[in-house]
Amino acid sequence: MNWLTNFVKPKLSSLVKRRDVPEKLWNNCLSCGSMIHHKDLNQNLRVCINCGYHFRMTAEDRIKLFFNNNDYNEIELDRISDDPLNFSDKKKYKDRLKEYRKKTKREDAFILLQGKIENIELIIGLMNFEFMGGSMGRAVGGAIVKGAKLSIEKKLPYVVVTSSGGARMQEGIISLMQMPRTIAAVDMLNENKIPYIVILTEPTTGGVTASFAMLGDITIAEKGATIGFAGKRVIQDTIREELPIDFQKAEYLKEHGMVDIVVHRKELRQTLHKVLQHIS
Ligand SMILES: [Zn+2]
Repeated sequence: MNWLTNFVKPKLSSLVKRRDVPEKLWNNCLSCGSMIHHKDLNQNLRVCINCGYHFRMTAEDRIKLFFNNNDYNEIELDRISDDPLNFSDKKKYKDRLKEYRKKTKREDAFILLQGKIENIELIIGLMNFEFMGGSMGRAVGGAIVKGAKLSIEKKLPYVVVTSSGGARMQEGIISLMQMPRTIAAVDMLNENKIPYIVILTEPTTGGVTASFAMLGDITIAEKGATIGFAGKRVIQDTIREELPIDFQKAEYLKEHGMVDIVVHRKELRQTLHKVLQHIS
């Protein structure tokens, strides 16, 4: 201990800390660069006040967006054993899971609910990007199947809100097996004539896009959402061609017939209600 550690360092860190505060209070719009206070942003459903850019939204906030008076029940997901491959990269997968469970207070990256939108009952599953980037492993695959089975049993429409970086690499081949597994669940819905609606939100990529996310009877996407399989730069480098600016954006996918409806977040609930009215 000396003058440097006792006096200079605390002063320096207090300076750094002071600079940390505005970062948490203010959000920089990724599209127009505006600084928006977090309260204003949250009040505006996390949509930029200046340009309408849709910021990423947590699954918990989305639940509030769909159900205003806690008009839903959460469905308990099946417990499965963790870490089938005993995997570790920079960290052990088991420790990573612990960390995210503590942070999100959820077991894995999918939340399943039964609820009512206006007078229409439905089963809705939400991918939670806060939990390991919404990645799909065994638990998420299992939860999607459970939601499908429940919808068939109760004869209710099934809505899935996606937000995911794709398959969970810590589960290797087992995470890839969730692709055919979830596709089989959608087939089951089709055979039983249960409506299946997908809501694509920022971002929906990788193995999720390549499976259940693109199989909706009706596909709704949020304005400006990134939807794709591989990243734009990877594709550009492979085909050696410049891709359009809006490539992999919701609007581009609608123009090319992959998405049925693109909506502003403020109109999402109302649009879903309208669609449900038509099909149920
Ligand atoms: Zn903006």
